[in-house]
Amino acid sequence: MELICKVQTYDWGSRDPNCHVHNLSCKNDPSKPDENVSNGLLDRPHAEIWVGTHVNGPSVIKDSGKLLSEYIYENPESIGNKTQEEFGVQLPYLLKVLSVSKPLSIQAHPLKSHAKELHAKYPDIYKDPNHKPEMLVTLSKFQMLRGFRPPADIKIYLQSVPELRDVLGADSADFLLSCNSSQEQEALKQAYRSLMTASDEVVSDCLTKILSRVKTADEATRGACVADLLEKLYSHFPGDVGCLSVYFLQDFEMAPGEAAFLPANLIHAYIEGECVELMACSDNVVRGGLTPKLKDVETLCSMLEYEPVDRSTNMDVVQLSDNCTKYIPHGIKDFSMLCFKLKKGDPVSTVASNGGPSVILSLGTAKYSVDSNPPQSLLEGHVVFVRADQTFNIFPDPDKETTTQVFVAQCNF
Ligand SMILES: [Zn+2]
Repeated sequence: MELICKVQTYDWGSRDPNCHVHNLSCKNDPSKPDENVSNGLLDRPHAEIWVGTHVNGPSVIKDSGKLLSEYIYENPESIGNKTQEEFGVQLPYLLKVLSVSKPLSIQAHPLKSHAKELHAKYPDIYKDPNHKPEMLVTLSKFQMLRGFRPPADIKIYLQSVPELRDVLGADSADFLLSCNSSQEQEALKQAYRSLMTASDEVVSDCLTKILSRVKTADEATRGACVADLLEKLYSHFPGDVGCLSVYFLQDFEMAPGEAAFLPANLIHAYIEGECVELMACSDNVVRGGLTPKLKDVETLCSMLEYEPVDRSTNMDVVQLSDNCTKYIPHGIKDFSMLCFKLKKGDPVSTVASNGGPSVILSLGTAKYSVDSNPPQSLLEGHVVFVRADQTFNIFPDPDKETTTQVFVAQCNF
């Protein structure tokens, strides 16, 4: 069953008519009216395509016009018994394509138990009681902040950027600078809380001082002050305390085709680039900065994981064949991902049912067949829902010369 998917026009999305979100959404739904373009830019930013049943952007079945969520509700066997037992009658994951042209908020996503607690306590703020672990595979160069830097590195920044002391306060700054290794997590937690709760005036004053100093500084000084990234964040969010997170959070530059997993309580902010993202079916975000939306610094600082992480943490990356990689996040059953890179002459890949439903997203031209049905075209922007009891094949279009990327989302059974 082919799906028509919703586009989110958040402010941080891309206005480039050639961005993946605009391009794929036009191909996904050829009947939708053309977007207005002025001076070569889309009138509306194109941030995300959503594939799934979440109420904030539910997918629709192309042939019937029915919501996928309604179809699953009326045909619960389509998602299989295992999925129903674990997650109820819904698609447990949400697959997205992102075109990020401005930084997203500094955020983390709560554990399932914490998400339920937050929803019960503050239903107007935390509307979603589900957790939201997420993974991404990049489609372009991609920049993000992810997890805390090692405390030794943060101590060096405290010395090369003395202006930070005014924001952290002498107690927090000295504790972090003088602590022994067993106290580092606590000192970092205290320092980050001091940073994020500092007054707007103190933050703004600190940012102005650092930016005016690095403006005319030599390359070495600029590097020691993370000047390029600080200036980039400041240009989008002048005066926002989130800009100063560059001294606390790890800056990752990812190449196209790289993957990362973001488990609960891991602080992160996407800065720029395009990716395919897969997460639990949830919109649950605790924000701390780089956003005009509500910030909940107290909740964020108390839930965070302060241990430094590397990119591959918490996810197995398995090469199933020459053209297929499987991404298996640790500790969750909500999702796993297959990524195919198909080129002319590649053999047929069979994806057997794992007891849950699958969703196929194509970024190019390929073919697929379900059970023993005849092959069908899988064109750029096509999104297909496959029932839990069905096996399907994916293979290259014999007439297509170039490589095609096809993503498959499944439960992690
Ligand atoms: Zn996130």
